[in-house]
Amino acid sequence: MTIGAKDVAALRPRFRGALVQPGEEGYDQARRVWNGEIDRHPALVARCAGTDDVVEAVRFARERGLLVSVRGGGHSIAGHSVCDDGVMIDLSLMKATAVDPEARTVKAAGGLLWGELDRATQAFGLATTGGIISHTGIGGLTLGGGLGHLMRKHGLTVDNVRAIDLVTADGELRHVDGESDPDLFWGLRGGGGNFGIATAFEYQLHPVGPMVVAGPVFWPLEEAPSVLSALRDLAPDAPDELGITIGIAPAPPAPFVPPSWFGRPVAGLVLVWTGDPEAGEAAMAPYRRIGSPVVDAVQPLPYVALQGSLDGGAPHGRHYYWKAHRLPTLDDAVIDVLMERMGAPTSPFAQITGWAIGGAVSRVDPEATAVGDREVGFELNVTVGWLPSDREGDKHKAWVRDAWDGLAAHSHGVYANFISDEGQAGLASAYGDRLTRLVALKDRYDPDNFFRMNANIAPSSGASS
Ligand SMILES: Cc1cc2nc3c(=O)[nH]c(=O)nc-3n(C[C@H](O)[C@H](O)[C@H](O)COP(=O)(O)OP(=O)(O)OC[C@H]3O[C@@H](n4cnc5c(N)ncnc54)[C@H](O)[C@@H]3O)c2cc1C
Repeated sequence: MTIGAKDVAALRPRFRGALVQPGEEGYDQARRVWNGEIDRHPALVARCAGTDDVVEAVRFARERGLLVSVRGGGHSIAGHSVCDDGVMIDLSLMKATAVDPEARTVKAAGGLLWGELDRATQAFGLATTGGIISHTGIGGLTLGGGLGHLMRKHGLTVDNVRAIDLVTADGELRHVDGESDPDLFWGLRGGGGNFGIATAFEYQLHPVGPMVVAGPVFWPLEEAPSVLSALRDLAPDAPDELGITIGIAPAPPAPFVPPSWFGRPVAGLVLVWTGDPEAGEAAMAPYRRIGSPVVDAVQPLPYVALQGSLDGGAPHGRHYYWKAHRLPTLDDAVIDVLMERMGAPTSPFAQITGWAIGGAVSRVDPEATAVGDREVGFELNVTVGWLPSDREGDKHKAWVRDAWDGLAAHSHGVYANFISDEGQAGLASAYGDRLTRLVALKDRYDPDNFFRMNANIAPSSGASS
C-alpha cells in the first residue's frame, strides 16, 4: 500500500517533525530496528517532535484505516515497532526530561533510551530501575514491566511509574494515574503498547551512586553447574541492594578479560551493589568465592558507566532470536539443559542471560499491576545472534527452541517483554488470569485493535485487522 502525496501534504502543515516516505532521504535508516532480522517497509514514517505530532499521526492513520506501529527504542525482538505498508509512528526524536530533585521524580518523553534517561537523572544523583543495555527504549520496556539492576531494591520499572501521558486510539490525550483512571493505569503497567501511545512517563527516582560497586565475575563453562547451584541457594536471600544477572556466553574481548579467554565460553554473574560500599564487600563475597573465577572485574564505577557496560553484547543490526522462561529455581535438570545447549552452540553469538528476581519486586502484590507473577526465582532468556551474511538462521533458531522446550517443564510463565513468537500462548503464559481484565480494558480503549503491532491483547470482538 502507498499513502498518496496528497494525503501526506495535508498532514505536513500540522506536523512539526519529519514525514519520511519510501525513496526519501533517511527512510532506510528510520525504518531499521535493533533486530537486523526485521526488514519491513512502512508507507510513511512519522517522526514525531512532540505529543501534538503523535495526536496528528494517530488521527491521520485512524481516518484512513491505516495499520500503525509505534517505535520507542526499536528493541522488540519480534520487530513490533515497524510495520509493512502502514504508518510507523516514531517517537525517537522525543527526548525531553524534567527532573524534580525535591520530589525525586522525572517526567521523561516516550522516545528516550535508558542511557539517556540515566544520564539526565544521575546529574542529580538519582535513578529509577531501568534496562541494563543503554540503547533500549524506556517506552516498550516500561509498558511491559521493566527488569533492571536496581529492581531488588526499588522494584520493577512499573513499580516506579507515577503517571503516563497517553494518546489513545481515538486521538485523545489523557493523563493517566492511579486516581484519574486506576483501571487503565493498572493495565498500562505491564500490558504493553495495547492501550495507546505513551508520550511521557513520570517516574519515582531514588538516590543511587553516582558511584556503585559492580562488575562481572566469569568462570570457565565447566564450572557453570557449581556457579548456578550456588546462585540457586544464595540469591533468594540476597540483600535488596544486590542486583544479580547471569550471562553464559563466549567471553568478550574486553580489557579486563585475559586474551587467552577471548571467545571461550564462560559462565558469568554481573553483581551490582548500590548500598554502602563496605557492606557490599561482605554481601558479594559468597558469590566471588565460588570455584575459581578467571575474571573478577567487580570494582567501583559510575552508575552511568555500569549502565552502558554490557552494550557490546547486543549491537544493532545483528540478526537475533530469543525465547524465555520464568523459573522458580535453577533445578539440576535446568542446569543440565543449559550445559547441554551451551556445549553445542550454533553461533559465536549464542548466549543465555538471566535475572535473579526477588527483593522489592516480590513484595509488590501481584494484583497491583498487570505485569504478572512476582515470585522469587529466575528469568532465563536463551538468545542467539548471527551476522547478516550467515544464511543459517533456521539452524540458530532451532538451537534456541530446543533449549526452550527442554526448560518448559520447569517454567512458571514468561515475562511479557520477552515474548517472541509464541502468539496467544505467550500472552496466556505472561498474564494468566489477568488476561481477562486486560481484554476488558482493550474493549474499552481500543475496541477496533488500532494498536495491534505489539504482544497483542485482542479485543473480545476479535478485531485483528
Ligand atoms: C538488547 C536488549 C536489552 C534488553 N534489556 C532489557 C532489560 O534490561 N530489562 C527488561 O525488562 N527488558 C529488556 N529487554 C526487553 C525490552 O524490554 C523489550 O524488547 C522492549 O519492548 C523494548 O522497548 P523499546 O521501546 O526499545 O522497543 P520498541 O520495539 O520500540 O517497542 C516495543 C513495543 O512497545 C511498544 N512501544 C514502545 N514505546 C511505546 C510507547 N511510548 N507507547 C506505546 N507503545 C510503545 C511498541 O509499539 C512495541 O509494540 C531488552 C531487549 C533488548 C533487545
